[in-house]
Amino acid sequence: MPRTLPGRKGGPIPFEEALDIVRRSAAPLEAEKVPLALALGRVLRQDVVSDMAMPPFDKSAMDGFACRRSDLPGPFEVVETIPAGRPPTRTLAQGQAAKIMTGAMLPEGADCVFVVEEAEALPDRRVRHSGRKTADNICRKGSDVSPGQLLVAAGARITPKAVSSLALAGCVEPLVSRKPVVGVLATGDEIVAPSERPGGAQIRDTNSIQTLCQAAQCGCDTRSYGIVRDDAAAISAALARGAAECDVLIVTGGVSMGDFDLVPGALREAGFELLFEKVAAQPGKPTVFGRRGASFVFGMPGNPVSCFIVFEFLVKELLARMTGLSERPAGARLPLAAAVRRSRADRLARIPVRVTPAGLAEAVPYHGSAHVTSLAGADGVISMPVGVASLEEGDLVDVRPI
Ligand code: AMP
Ligand code: MG
Repeated sequence: MPRTLPGRKGGPIPFEEALDIVRRSAAPLEAEKVPLALALGRVLRQDVVSDMAMPPFDKSAMDGFACRRSDLPGPFEVVETIPAGRPPTRTLAQGQAAKIMTGAMLPEGADCVFVVEEAEALPDRRVRHSGRKTADNICRKGSDVSPGQLLVAAGARITPKAVSSLALAGCVEPLVSRKPVVGVLATGDEIVAPSERPGGAQIRDTNSIQTLCQAAQCGCDTRSYGIVRDDAAAISAALARGAAECDVLIVTGGVSMGDFDLVPGALREAGFELLFEKVAAQPGKPTVFGRRGASFVFGMPGNPVSCFIVFEFLVKELLARMTGLSERPAGARLPLAAAVRRSRADRLARIPVRVTPAGLAEAVPYHGSAHVTSLAGADGVISMPVGVASLEEGDLVDVRPI
């Protein structure tokens, strides 16, 4: 008997509408303070402002001799040696120099440092500049950062390149978003664990680990709920458990129109309100999004490329809302290496591409959403909007990195 589920008769909604629903439904999670050493990957929930000038004093950029430029090339009387970390004790008078180390504080009276490689030693602790001319070799106080300057804004992810700015500001316990807890549940009678050798009509579960890794890369805590058979009661029970333990539950498989696609019904059974059930996107048309209390669920098509793309374009948006992340992946606008065509243009298509050494976007071999190994050779995806059936060689396309 053909199944008709309530709300499933309608056609797919445009991707932009789905995106809007996802964005509007989530609120930010709580913020918490964490030690800086444990903050990698977290999203900042405070602005980080510098509490001082950087450099904090005029400092030497080189090992050499501090002097007055008007006295060059010398000879100079060397009055002291200034190591990094110890303030100078002398003000330089005319004809005087101080031996100075990189990072050391410039003495009063000096406006120039010539490098040690261009210093000619003379008798009686004297020295002369032997080069033709010299740069100042001074890093001026506040030239990098002024007091009160915004270094990293709320909404940034704490990456290795951002974390040093927090250390610079003495922000050793940044306020960050709590980590979202993401659960992953695979469904399907044909699915076996990757550790098993599939027999007969079975295939290995590639979605679970792929999705868990995508979530981990977004700074989430992850939980795997394993593989559940295509059995309505078993799926409902697993969903209820997952929803109680997770902020976001991701269920793969069982959302299409097949006789054993039981997930939407099981979601309703488990008390989820479904906010959409189909999106005009390719891959990823049978994508279900719902909520139960503060927990959200995505039901994703079983094909692994579909799963990957739905995570990339919808789940990441939900996680961004929850964590307060304001940055989006920086893409590049590149010319297409060769024409890309499709027979129908009623969905927003995502096509995996690689970036060639010549800087062109080139579609990778891709046989459709089951072709999971195609992703490993891709650097990004390009989009073909609804109504666009072909892109020509040389057309500029936006490559979103994956
Ligand atoms: P479904 O969405 O359940 O109709 O599944 C669509 C296709 O994806 C079928 O060929 C499934 O065998 C495959 N599939 C479903 N779940 C997984 C999984 N966890 N890993 C790899 N392939 C899967
Ligand atoms: Mg299935």
